Amino acid sequence: MKKVVVIGGGIIGSVVASALSEAGAKVYLLEAKYFTYGSTGRSTGSITSQQRHPQLVERAIETKKLIPELKKKYEELGVPFAQRFLDDESPHIAIAFNEKDYEDLKKLAEIWSQGGAKVEEAEPSKVKELVPWIDENSFYKAFITPNDYKLMPHPFTWANIAAARILGAETYTYEPVVKIDVKDKVLVETESGKKFEGDVAVIAAGAKSLELLKMLNEKLNIDVKSYYAAGMVTEPFKYEMRPTIRVFKHSYRFTQTVRKEYVATIDNMGFENPEYSTEDSYEFLVKASTITVKLMPPMAYVNILRSWGAYCDYTEDGLPIVGWSPKYEGKIYYIFGFNDYGLSVGPSVARRAAKEIADGVKDPALEPYRPSRK
Ligand SMILES: Cc1cc2nc3c(=O)[nH]c(=O)nc-3n(C[C@H](O)[C@H](O)[C@H](O)COP(=O)(O)OP(=O)(O)OC[C@H]3O[C@@H](n4cnc5c(N)ncnc54)[C@H](O)[C@@H]3O)c2cc1C
Repeated sequence: MKKVVVIGGGIIGSVVASALSEAGAKVYLLEAKYFTYGSTGRSTGSITSQQRHPQLVERAIETKKLIPELKKKYEELGVPFAQRFLDDESPHIAIAFNEKDYEDLKKLAEIWSQGGAKVEEAEPSKVKELVPWIDENSFYKAFITPNDYKLMPHPFTWANIAAARILGAETYTYEPVVKIDVKDKVLVETESGKKFEGDVAVIAAGAKSLELLKMLNEKLNIDVKSYYAAGMVTEPFKYEMRPTIRVFKHSYRFTQTVRKEYVATIDNMGFENPEYSTEDSYEFLVKASTITVKLMPPMAYVNILRSWGAYCDYTEDGLPIVGWSPKYEGKIYYIFGFNDYGLSVGPSVARRAAKEIADGVKDPALEPYRPSRK
């Protein structure tokens, strides 16, 4: 039986852990804090085909198909949260504030179509049919991907972890990995002194994967940086809003959750975050509130209950890093660098990656993401 140590309990590590357990591997899932502590638990939960590369659009469409399949599989396994993570169909409305942004957005919308997404151009009046209290005069035009989706990131991650555990995985929280030794086997050590031996270690630590690369003395050709992101949630609001609104060029998105509160995030505030700060920020609150109220004036009367900071791992070419380490082929597998789209693209990629690790057969769909690319 193959032994695999998975480092990082976000959406990526949790999907890899459940898929590998399903494939018959003995999995040890190690998390530095609590599951979902990283960007996964700080995200909006949108599963969207609005991606910057056609192959990422394909993976996001695949994730959308995968979620109900996993729900069924996990219910059969007896996972207690399985029924909770499936949220809703949620048309994604990408809004351009002016004509110039609209022209750029149009180019991006062509990429969504190339990747197989259904895309509709929308005048403000059409958007108002979907979101009745939006101010039609506050933006220029929009593109809609009507078949997108939203998901509750916490129960989804926990459901994967619960499935992995039912299938024999051992999971550990508050066990940051501090040392990795690659010899015949891979020896992974945590801060408390626990040691885990595996045939393979999977680095799925989001932006902090960079720290693990340092431990392994490995430098990849492709540059990865950690950027500051942030989010907030309001009190429950009586107006219902199924769609997710994205404001092009502001990295801003917001939607309503099943609990009726509004969740709004900016997944790149425009500056680096090498310390991985999760402090909230006044600058974010001002920016997000201003955009929200401009688009939806009634939101001015809604209280913000909580806000938070986050970090996202951005690669210079916008693609994730997925595959065997160039230095430790067959022993260390990287899967990180999911920019602002890890919920959308991640589950599909993570299932495929787990299959590669379990079977040893390379998946052509993952070729563009290899760690050795320049
Ligand atoms: C504000 C915000 C909004 C977003 N909204 C969306 C969205 O709506 N849709 C979408 O598709 N994407 C969205 N994203 C992006 C998405 O959240 C990420 O791409 C995705 O969550 C990355 O998942 P991950 O598992 O790779 O990383 P993470 O969720 O960061 O998980 C990595 C885990 O590894 C752990 N770890 C780190 N170091 C160690 C160590 N040494 N030992 C053990 N464990 C370690 C961390 O504690 C963490 O829990 C958003 C991101 C942010 C920040």
